[in-house]
Amino acid sequence: MKLRKKKVLLFLLALFLLYAIWLSFNILRFKTYKAPALKSSPLEIEGVYHIHTTYSDGRKSLDEIAKLASQANIDFIILTDHGNPNHESYSSQGWKEGVLVLAGSELSVSRGHLVALDFELPSGRFSLNTEDAFYEIKAGGGFSIIAHPYSKTQWSWGKFMEYSGIEIINGDTALKKNIIASLPSLPALLIKPEYAFLKMLDSPHRNLRKWDELNNLHPIYGYFSLDAHLLYRPALNLLRLHLLLQSPLSEDFDTAKHQVYEALRKGRFYNSIHAAAHAHGFRFSGEEEEKTVLMGSTVILDSPVPLNIEAPFPFAKDIHLVHNGKMIFRSAEDSISYEAAHPGTYRVEVYLTERSPLGKNIPWIISNPIFLREDDK
Ligand SMILES: [Zn+2]
Ligand SMILES: [Zn+2]
Repeated sequence: MKLRKKKVLLFLLALFLLYAIWLSFNILRFKTYKAPALKSSPLEIEGVYHIHTTYSDGRKSLDEIAKLASQANIDFIILTDHGNPNHESYSSQGWKEGVLVLAGSELSVSRGHLVALDFELPSGRFSLNTEDAFYEIKAGGGFSIIAHPYSKTQWSWGKFMEYSGIEIINGDTALKKNIIASLPSLPALLIKPEYAFLKMLDSPHRNLRKWDELNNLHPIYGYFSLDAHLLYRPALNLLRLHLLLQSPLSEDFDTAKHQVYEALRKGRFYNSIHAAAHAHGFRFSGEEEEKTVLMGSTVILDSPVPLNIEAPFPFAKDIHLVHNGKMIFRSAEDSISYEAAHPGTYRVEVYLTERSPLGKNIPWIISNPIFLREDDK
């Protein structure tokens, strides 16, 4: 009997050792792909959207978070503390540790959570009714984004306003939802948390389907949202927004704030899963009368429009051009041109095909769309 117990214990110990070796091996060979030879452009800046601080239910203060953002080479962060609006967070905006700190608010409204950005402070509180809040934000010069439509406080659809954006990945959701499924990788949180985070992300296809559907109604832009409340150091390296500016980011706060919000309002940005690979240098553009138009633009379609994709990365990838939600063209080349002859919404997804803890069904890069519209005059 004793011998049998000993055998079981030895077997379990061997199993545990095998698991520990397997995990260590995977963690040790994990690397974030980088393209060191690429020259970084001052017209492309990187930031993180949807961060909670101690102004609401986040675990770290803005000063601590700004320091971590600076160490992670982030140009800007967008705070979204809870509140209708959150005054403390709003008045904390400025340059901190060389990082541009902008603050919107995450409003709790009748349909779910709505993020308001670039608004003037209202005299009282924003309404709890979604449509009223939408108009109040707009009247104060701001714009709004639907937060985590299919998780946490799910969004209830219905009357659809011209929201500027929708979250297509929400980091907090992925980490909470997949914690059990990712149990075998969780010890990595102590050694290489980025590895564990990448393992926990799941396919955003439900959000993407909805986003494509909404784009049939009017242009709406897609956001990778961190929704960080804790573990900020690794979290700040998980997801990035890449904005394309028309001039390098100003040192003057008001000008810089305007540059960032203008790029977001016009959809001149793409999203990346930064912990998997650095995406700086990706471009998706179109040509209209021999002029280059960037993501977010609407182009009148009177003859086929060349759409150009630049993905100058030295690691293997699979680039999908998506038209009205359907993949119509794919390539592994660094530079692609496609003649688009049909009206609708065109956007790009890039999948990493190198070995990575990131699931093969999760796009590493998601661009904002270019809209081709027939001239209806
Ligand atoms: Zn929320
Ligand atoms: Zn949030």
